[in-house]
Amino acid sequence: MSHKMYVNFQELSAAGKSWEMDVSAAVLMDAEAGCVNALENVCSDAHWKGEIQRQYGIYTLRGEWSLSVLRQCDRCTGEFEWHVKGDCKRLYALEEPVDIDEEERADIEVLSPNVVLNLVDVLREEVWLAWKPCVICKDSCQGLCQGCGVNLNQDICQCKGDQRDHPFAALAKMKFDA
Ligand SMILES: [Zn+2]
Ligand SMILES: [Zn+2]
Repeated sequence: MSHKMYVNFQELSAAGKSWEMDVSAAVLMDAEAGCVNALENVCSDAHWKGEIQRQYGIYTLRGEWSLSVLRQCDRCTGEFEWHVKGDCKRLYALEEPVDIDEEERADIEVLSPNVVLNLVDVLREEVWLAWKPCVICKDSCQGLCQGCGVNLNQDICQCKGDQRDHPFAALAKMKFDA
């Protein structure tokens, strides 16, 4: 894989490092391309940009990313492209930092001095952190009819007129404007 995916902290110049790149879906789904669990069903390249800067032995990584994953709607079961994006801030050090309080120290990941950071792994971790187990194709998704099972986004319900057993039927009789 291209060297631009890797950050060697010991070789980092005083100016730090910045990147803006497209990481292909194939790389994100390739188990060999990193140590973090590979993503699945990625349907667009990820846009990944960020920078790492060093100050007093602390390396601060700030990044922004976005990509699309093919997923199943939790409401209508249809497949759709789930667009997800995020930003991140991570702190690294090559030795246990001193002279900072407990709380700050907890946010800092201490790496072994010769470690090389794989930016694909960082990106994958961020995507997993942003992962939502249940997603819907659109806010206005009508879902499936509880009676006849048709996808109400595409078809007209076949069981209209007999909604008495519908779990929300009772709601129809309620007044919400009281
Ligand atoms: Zn849906
Ligand atoms: Zn129906």
